[in-house]
Amino acid sequence: MSEVMGLILDADGVLILKGEPIPGSNGALARLDARGIPYRVVTNYSSAHRTTLAARFSARGATVDPDRMITAASSSAAYTAERFAGRPIHVIATLDALREFDGQQLVSSEAAVAASPGEIAAVVIGDGGDELSFRNLDAAFRQVRAGAALLAMHRNPWWFTSRGPTLDSGAAVAGLEYATGVRATVLGKPSPEVFRQAIAGLRQDLGRRVPVRAIAMVGDDPDADVRAAQRVGLRGILVLTGKTTEDQLEAATLGRGRRAPDAVARSLADVVDALTRPGAALD
Ligand SMILES: [Mg+2]
Repeated sequence: MSEVMGLILDADGVLILKGEPIPGSNGALARLDARGIPYRVVTNYSSAHRTTLAARFSARGATVDPDRMITAASSSAAYTAERFAGRPIHVIATLDALREFDGQQLVSSEAAVAASPGEIAAVVIGDGGDELSFRNLDAAFRQVRAGAALLAMHRNPWWFTSRGPTLDSGAAVAGLEYATGVRATVLGKPSPEVFRQAIAGLRQDLGRRVPVRAIAMVGDDPDADVRAAQRVGLRGILVLTGKTTEDQLEAATLGRGRRAPDAVARSLADVVDALTRPGAALD
C-alpha cells in the first residue's frame, strides 16, 4: 500500500449504502484531503448530472465535489465529445443527465425518429426511464443498422429503487444488440474507458508520470470494480461495506481460478488508515 498515491472510489457500497452514508466514509475522504491524496469517485449511476448526484450525497452527509465524480453518463459524454465532436448524436437519457452533453450536437427524439439513414453518428443508451420507449429504441435500431455507433452508459440488467428490483437500461442495450447484431461499446464500469478518464484526472493532480500501479480502485464488487480495475493495471481493493460480505468473501475472491484482489479491507476508513498511518496494514 505504501506506493499508492491516488484512489478511485466506487460510490454505492463504499461511500453510501441504500442512500445513507457508510459510517466513517466521510471522515475517510476528509483524511485523504488533509494528506493531499487525490481521489476520483466512479459510479455507474447515470440518471442525473453529477451536480445533482453530489447535492443528493451532500443532503445525506456525504460530501463529494462533482468535479471529482465520473458517472457512466459523464464518461459517455467525455467519450462522444472526443470521438464525435461536431457530429449529430442521439442520446436516450433523462433531461438532467443530458446536461452532461452540453455543447455537443444532440438530436431530439423527434429529429432522431425522422433522421435519414447515416445522418446520426452515434446512439447512446442511458438510464432514460420512459425515454427508453419503443419509438426511441426503434429509431436507435434503424440508426445503428445504418452505421451509427452503438454506445451504452452501462449494461446493468436491473437495480434497486423505491419500487424494489427495477429493470435497468442494460436490458434495452441487450435488445438492441440482439436486433442489430452489433456489440455495444460500454462506457461506464467495467469498461476500461471510465478508468482511463479517472487515471487522466488523477494524473492532472499527481503528474503525468505517475504509474497506473500507484493508483488503487476501491470497490465492493469483485468483478465490475476490482477485476475490471486490475485489467487496466490498477490495484484492486475489495471492501466489505456493500454487496460483498465476509461470508461471501471466499467465493467472491477465489472461485473458479479468478484473480484475487490486491487487498481486502473492512471499509474505506481502513484503506485510508493503511495509507496514512505508519504500521497500519491490510490483508
Ligand atoms: Mg458498488
